[in-house]
Amino acid sequence: MRVGVLSLQGDFEAHSRRLSDLGAEAVEVRYGHQLEEIGGLVLPGGESTTNLILMEEERLWEPLQRFVGQRPVLGTCAGAILLARDVSNPSQPSLGAIAMSIERNAYGRQADSSIRTVEPEREFTERTRGGPLEAVFIRAPIIRSVDPGVTVLLRDGPDPILVEQGRHLAATFHAELTTDTRLHELFLDKVGRG
Ligand code: GLN
Repeated sequence: MRVGVLSLQGDFEAHSRRLSDLGAEAVEVRYGHQLEEIGGLVLPGGESTTNLILMEEERLWEPLQRFVGQRPVLGTCAGAILLARDVSNPSQPSLGAIAMSIERNAYGRQADSSIRTVEPEREFTERTRGGPLEAVFIRAPIIRSVDPGVTVLLRDGPDPILVEQGRHLAATFHAELTTDTRLHELFLDKVGRG
């Protein structure tokens, strides 16, 4: 299975390694035409504003909009911001693939990076495996609201930190930085289904 990782900026190498470890062929995506050759795409963490500028420069925005209408995408942290419908603090363009409102850099400066252990929602456990999950947050956003069609698979307290809508997944934490492979397994499962 060929899976792309948007590789303009940010934490793309760790995602590629994780996908390869799980048996997928990971492709570093930098140009629009590469989207035609992959079954799914990861939008990694980094800086969503920088990614937006680079996407514009590489003329990736329109091919990406088409891609999210056709194939599964996993967005982590900045990638989740790019997938959201509404972005605040400040507002900026996004792909609108998941019906959620997300606030950038929402933990404030004191607590802007942390590792927290969360207990998965039942649906996540049923589709992967049970047990607590360590979530790494780096200048992370907070998902402020989701529409009824969005499933929350993980929460940190009241806040959704992993959500799913249709073929897409978005996590506000860096699942590629721990040894827990469950989120990428879930994603590859979706890619396998098309
Ligand atoms: N703060 C970044 C943004 O707003 C996201 C941080 C990250 O991806 N680790 O885009």
